[in-house]
Amino acid sequence: MPDPNPPAPAASPGRRADLIVEGGYVVTLDDGRPVIVDGSVAVAGDRIVAVGSAGDVDASFPEAAQRIDASGCLVMPGMIDTHTHLFQVLGRSLGDGLELMAWLRDFMLPMAVHLTLDDVVAAVRLSSLMSVLAGTTAVVDNHYAPTDTATTLAVAEAVESVGLRGAIARGVFGSRVEGSDRMGVPDELHAFSAAEELRIMDECLHQRPPGSRVEVWPMPENVVYVDRDLIAACADLAEQRDLRWQAHCSEAQEEVVIFTDVHGERPVEWLSRAGLLGPRATLAHAIWLNDDEVAAIGAARACALHQPVCNQVISSGVMRLHELLGAGATVGLGTDGLAVSGQSMFEAMKSAYGLHRLSRMDPTWPPAEQLLDLVCRHGARVLGRPAGIISEGALADLVVIDLQTPRWVPAHRPVAMLALIGHGADVRDVVVDGEVVVRRGRSTLVDQDEVMAKAREAAERVATAAGLEPLRAAWIDR
Ligand SMILES: [Zn+2]
Repeated sequence: MPDPNPPAPAASPGRRADLIVEGGYVVTLDDGRPVIVDGSVAVAGDRIVAVGSAGDVDASFPEAAQRIDASGCLVMPGMIDTHTHLFQVLGRSLGDGLELMAWLRDFMLPMAVHLTLDDVVAAVRLSSLMSVLAGTTAVVDNHYAPTDTATTLAVAEAVESVGLRGAIARGVFGSRVEGSDRMGVPDELHAFSAAEELRIMDECLHQRPPGSRVEVWPMPENVVYVDRDLIAACADLAEQRDLRWQAHCSEAQEEVVIFTDVHGERPVEWLSRAGLLGPRATLAHAIWLNDDEVAAIGAARACALHQPVCNQVISSGVMRLHELLGAGATVGLGTDGLAVSGQSMFEAMKSAYGLHRLSRMDPTWPPAEQLLDLVCRHGARVLGRPAGIISEGALADLVVIDLQTPRWVPAHRPVAMLALIGHGADVRDVVVDGEVVVRRGRSTLVDQDEVMAKAREAAERVATAAGLEPLRAAWIDR
């Protein structure tokens, strides 16, 4: 319930602010979900130092170095994309309509094995730019080709170059296992032994220690085709270094069948029995779960990552979102790669909203506000950072949305409208870590035309090298 009388910021002498976002409709998502109609947010360094009515905040910080006039705008916490594949933008729209094995064989894998470091950087800069322009302030990018130290670090740098925070969930494959053959994973992806995988992780963490604006996480790519000891080693590394770890888990029904055939138990049953579930475990998709697995994820306060656009496009299934939330799980939303989505968390929210209402045949759930909670508060829990809310002490990751567009007239319920009609095109300003990284809809950090030109060149080169020409027909009749 919005609190009409949020507490006034304490006016103590000597407090400073570097930036004030002033006079907006502030959707704090703080406990109690207070909304401030004419509110301001003061930022010092990377933190929010005050939030309250515009008059009170202004009086407390009369000498802020920078101001953003947010009158006529909505101010919300930055959204968090908890699972994506940024390099996939180079293949955008290709492979549509292929079933999964053909999609991998004829499109994604040839593309992945032909990528150079320069291609990857060009792709990641473009998709990171799209993310931040659409109001995403943090991404977790599962980068799985190539995964050598230099490329992994270059991807992290590319994400950070547009101002985002987040993590590179570095794809860890190790040696082939039975599941690799059953899933048709090419040798090129199983490029390193388990020992080499852990050494590369170590090198990456040396360059980008935990707590960096963009961290590096271990990501056993899929519980089906990574050796279980290596998965356990990745979870252990995350525990030792105070990181999260991620894995694709139970996305397709077939994966559960293969895992159960090979190991005699279901994937999440095993994770639970092996003691690997906990808040550091972030499981991408987590669709095909039985009741015990849902309960285990909830009881462990583990994270399930929901990609509603991808799940519908690939027809992989419907996550048991209502049951997972009821069990106590953290559920982040994600875009899952530009081959199928628009790299927008607005799109993810709207998509989840419709998908779950239809699949449950229930127009009462989820409420629009619930989606905001998932992309902000739950997303921050996945990330393990004090973000996703506008509150004193939280990280200063803020999005200013222009309400003076036809889409927002009339704005009876702006909070619900974010999930219902919100669009990246209305994002005007973005602040990450206290830094203004988007102003008036343009990046303040990179030359957008140059980023687009480099990505166009890389896409051409890769499409030719990987023989993707047949997939580029203007109109494909199936
Ligand atoms: Zn994925």
